[in-house]
Amino acid sequence: MTEDFYCDEVLSGKTPVNKVLETENVLAYYHTRPFYPVHIVAIPKKHISSLITLEESDDGLMLDLMGVIKKVAAMVTEENGACRVITNLGNYQESKHLHWHIVSGKPLR
Ligand SMILES: [Zn+2]
Repeated sequence: MTEDFYCDEVLSGKTPVNKVLETENVLAYYHTRPFYPVHIVAIPKKHISSLITLEESDDGLMLDLMGVIKKVAAMVTEENGACRVITNLGNYQESKHLHWHIVSGKPLR
């Protein structure tokens, strides 16, 4: 796995993904190697390292990102009755590109 899977593989188009929702600035798609029965990832198309490196100039992008997360989470909750929205930081964050997991069900592994 590369340091930045999202820029290197997903946004470059190298790894094809099944899109759930897309805006000018944000992409949500089904995880390519899901670790929950329902596992969607939402990412900004612009490179941002993590939640805690967001800057004030990213406010508009963050609002767009949250809008997408909200819609996807509403859809997952409607279909499954429960949903969790997660972003990892520090040693918990494998790929150093801000990404949000929108998941439902018991972990697969
Ligand atoms: Zn990136």
